[in-house]
Amino acid sequence: MKERLIVQKYGGSSVANTDRIKKVAERILKYKRKGRSLVVVVSALGDTTDELIELSSQITKYPSEREMDMLLSTGEQVSSALLAMALHKLGIKAISFTGAQVGIITDSAHTRARILDIGAERIKEELKKGKVVIVAGFQGMTEKKEITTLGRGGSDLTAVALAKALDADECEIFTDVAGIYTTDPRIEPQASKLERITYDEMLEMASLGAQVMQSRSIELAKKFNIPLIVRSSFLYKRGTMIYNPRKNSKEAKFMEGALVSGITLSKNEAKLTLCDVRDKPGIAAQIFKKLSQEDINVDMIVQNISRTKRTDISFTVPKSSLRKAVRIARNSSKTIGAGDVAVDDDVARVSIVGVGMKAHSGVAAKMFEALAENNINIEMISTSEISVSCLIKKNLGERAVRSLHSKFNLGHIKRSK
Ligand code: ADP
Ligand code: ASP
Ligand code: MG
Repeated sequence: MKERLIVQKYGGSSVANTDRIKKVAERILKYKRKGRSLVVVVSALGDTTDELIELSSQITKYPSEREMDMLLSTGEQVSSALLAMALHKLGIKAISFTGAQVGIITDSAHTRARILDIGAERIKEELKKGKVVIVAGFQGMTEKKEITTLGRGGSDLTAVALAKALDADECEIFTDVAGIYTTDPRIEPQASKLERITYDEMLEMASLGAQVMQSRSIELAKKFNIPLIVRSSFLYKRGTMIYNPRKNSKEAKFMEGALVSGITLSKNEAKLTLCDVRDKPGIAAQIFKKLSQEDINVDMIVQNISRTKRTDISFTVPKSSLRKAVRIARNSSKTIGAGDVAVDDDVARVSIVGVGMKAHSGVAAKMFEALAENNINIEMISTSEISVSCLIKKNLGERAVRSLHSKFNLGHIKRSK
């Protein structure tokens, strides 16, 4: 009989030091004893990636992206080799590889590369020999043999892509919490663990700031219908399943029963205001076209009502794009004869997410009510089919999350069959 093939990913906190790496090795031993075939993706030890970025910033504010990838990819090489050694110590056959060695081919967008193809021949060969194959997460190689990385949190993507390429039976994401919660349990200790969540909700939560899963990995899992299990590497407990229930099934209806299933907070946004813009057709198009040409993701947009022939346009961008966005906004302002560009990065975006919203009204009103009851001023609003987001003052972010969590009664959400 064919052995069940499992792809597992262990995040930075799960391999933060050598003791934790030894614990991961013990867990792997249990799977091997049950006769499983294993491919294990690891992140860099603890906060290594942040530390490497900090090192580079001591040299220059503007490092070359190619060299950044050379630097950051080293983190995952360390953890994968150490895990292989820990497995050898337990008498388990294991071998570690870099992304390049196992044929993870990407485009050449350094620091945020996309996976184009995975050869995986080398992995299959080693699995046949009964070895645990360990792959350094978060990295790949271009066809020209340049090392790339897949964007922050990219080891999740490595795991999902390998699960697809190897046609694995399961893909498990091990982290430092017991699964996906209604909100970040570090902010709201009353948060409840969800037994299950749909790809769409998880994708929305991840894009709106829930760092627990990288959004691109969820996109890929959804595209190929690869169910993911997110669980703790510290406990032996069932985690959360991310998947799609069959349309119109009892289960799908059950999941839509909850209006809101999650709340997220992001402090990675900044607001720009272009003042005294002429209020006439085509002006917004000019500004936002320039931003999109430079790959800047604009999230919320508000154009104030003009009483004169001039108006202000405010919009938010990720903080990482702020410098570029300000430069573009200043140039646009000159071209279109507008006024100053004001920047405010003392903001946070709080969002509610839930598939149940599609079929119910009054959800946004309830959100605004909760924020008003807590004296939290809303500066901007944006919505999607399954989410509502508000931009507020940064120091009120945690309070907003807790007030919404209680307003929507998420401490008692039931999502088990
Ligand atoms: P890893 O090192 O395993 O990749 P991360 O730090 O990237 O782990 O993600 C796990 C963290 O995500 C948790 O410790 C938790 O604080 C945070 N988090 C944010 N939102 C959620 C959520 N809705 N459910 C679970 N964890 C969340
Ligand atoms: N080490 C990388 C990061 O911190 C990738 C990952 O952990 O998934 O972003
Ligand atoms: Mg992560």
